[in-house]
Amino acid sequence: MASVVVEGLVLPVALGGHPALDFCNTRAGWGEPRPKEYLVSHAHLLLWARENGLVTAPAAKQTDQAAAHAPAEATAVLRRAVRFREALYDVLAGLARPANWAAVSAEAQRAAAVAVLRPGTPAATWELPVTTGAELPLLAVARSAADLLTTPAARTVAACPGHGCGWLFADPRGRRRWCSMALCGNRAKARRHSDRNRPAPAITGTAGTSAAGAAGRSFTHGDPSEGP
Ligand SMILES: [Zn+2]
Repeated sequence: MASVVVEGLVLPVALGGHPALDFCNTRAGWGEPRPKEYLVSHAHLLLWARENGLVTAPAAKQTDQAAAHAPAEATAVLRRAVRFREALYDVLAGLARPANWAAVSAEAQRAAAVAVLRPGTPAATWELPVTTGAELPLLAVARSAADLLTTPAARTVAACPGHGCGWLFADPRGRRRWCSMALCGNRAKARRHSDRNRPAPAITGTAGTSAAGAAGRSFTHGDPSEGP
């Protein structure tokens, strides 16, 4: 996992290969006691949707204004987005119960119900109108998720086994192990190296600590908790 700072907000980098997967990756440390949460406000949700191509810049601007005028609604949308993400993760990771599918379907249905068919080149498109207000980024990701789930690609999703990660990514050939070799892959390598070279703890605790510290430092660059 790794993050970037956009307009002062910390967002996860997109490594999943599809916006619906990257939406699941707005949380890291799935299944662990202290997950890392990136969707900490409606503004984060909206900016994430814009940066991942689900909402246009002008629509994001209007939605931001709508959310500012209806903060309670924006907070409710954020909560819905977090619940939706939890269900979507289980669905995409192949862990879903019927309730997870129902939760994903409910948001996808909602998005489909408000979509408007507009003329365009080279073809008409279904658009989500900005009149949906604060809901727009959630509806956009729900539609994107439905797009992915209705293709065979949804069955080739893998989860990163990296410590504190669990990010999802497209793995059509079944050969990808990490969300990013440069991040989780190298971190695992560093851990293995550190474990192999760690002398008996009673005698060389200092050396062991130093090795672990070096491994940790090299990855704090990508750790959002270190960001501004
Ligand atoms: Zn990872």
